[in-house]
Amino acid sequence: MSNISISSKFDSGNIEVLKAQSFDDIQVNVEQDSNSDYLQYFFFRVSGIEDQECTIKIMNASETTYPFWNEYYVYASYDKQNWFLVPTEYNGKELVINHTAACNTVYYAYYPPFSYEQHLELIGECQTSGLCSSEVLGQTVEGRDIDFLQIGFPSKSKKKIWVIARQHPGESMAEWFMQGFLRRLLDEDDSVSKALLNKAVFYVVPNMNIDGSILGNLRANAAGANLNREWADPSLEKSPEVFHVRNAMDELGVDFCLDVHGDEEIPYNFISASEGAPSYNDKIAANEKSFIQSWMGTCPDFQDTHGYDKDEPGKADLRICTPQITERYKALCLTIEMPFKDNHDLPDPLFGWSTTRSEKLGASVLQPTLAIIDKL
Ligand code: ZN
Repeated sequence: MSNISISSKFDSGNIEVLKAQSFDDIQVNVEQDSNSDYLQYFFFRVSGIEDQECTIKIMNASETTYPFWNEYYVYASYDKQNWFLVPTEYNGKELVINHTAACNTVYYAYYPPFSYEQHLELIGECQTSGLCSSEVLGQTVEGRDIDFLQIGFPSKSKKKIWVIARQHPGESMAEWFMQGFLRRLLDEDDSVSKALLNKAVFYVVPNMNIDGSILGNLRANAAGANLNREWADPSLEKSPEVFHVRNAMDELGVDFCLDVHGDEEIPYNFISASEGAPSYNDKIAANEKSFIQSWMGTCPDFQDTHGYDKDEPGKADLRICTPQITERYKALCLTIEMPFKDNHDLPDPLFGWSTTRSEKLGASVLQPTLAIIDKL
């Protein structure tokens, strides 16, 4: 009789159990995103395995949306607070985790989740600051509130800076980034934040895809939509999250926007820009360059050598947030990508690209923002 129990029946959980009779042959599958074919994010717990040499195989790893499992380390935790890396092997078909757990119950995640409870607590923490007010822009597909924060006090002369995260819910590092960003921006003893808030008001959506986050999806919302392909023509039925946020942008205006993500393949922090938007111009290009230079100069976790191929002029996909915002508001917009597979410039073999490092990267983005604020 086996005492092994595997469950993902909790916030952000995702796994299908195929076989859990013996420690050396535990077999699971990652489940598809809601109403879509995306397949990547997993988060589950295994109980009954203390001090046992376990082999857990993710059987459908080769069928995932981004099967870049070479050099991937899974994140594990005994308390859902402290996460450490466990090496994996990828044989071209299955992802194999060999692990001897020090406690009876262990959690494994593609990346450590940032739960809905944490999200609600973050909104609460921010709104009790004298610098921040919170609002609900509308409801998600499943009827949850889309939380929106205004930081600083608007005036005609101030720049309007948007920061949004987690359009792709399985890229949970994006909300850890947001937590670090918000805490620094609301720190009244931080001179960079003070200087920024003299010149700008920030409009922030810490989680664009609440339903997908809770459902354990990688890219889709509850209706199966990839929100980062909905910006040209969002609808209340399929993509209310983008519909409401884009309407708020139309109403309030945009001078600069950051859209925070994680990348499944590239082991570095990088940005991708909107050079393919028809309205991309010399001013936007110059600000983009200054931002990159300033960020590299102040944060060694950021680099500009590795990243995506650039779009041809005029050839951007305007369904994507970044080029759509440049086109719509004639403003600089940057997608920030963080790694699932650590930052190979400054690797950490024990904790990888940790939640703390995601938070610190979020805090670090204020300095390059200040560097370009007068030129926006
Ligand atoms: Zn993404």
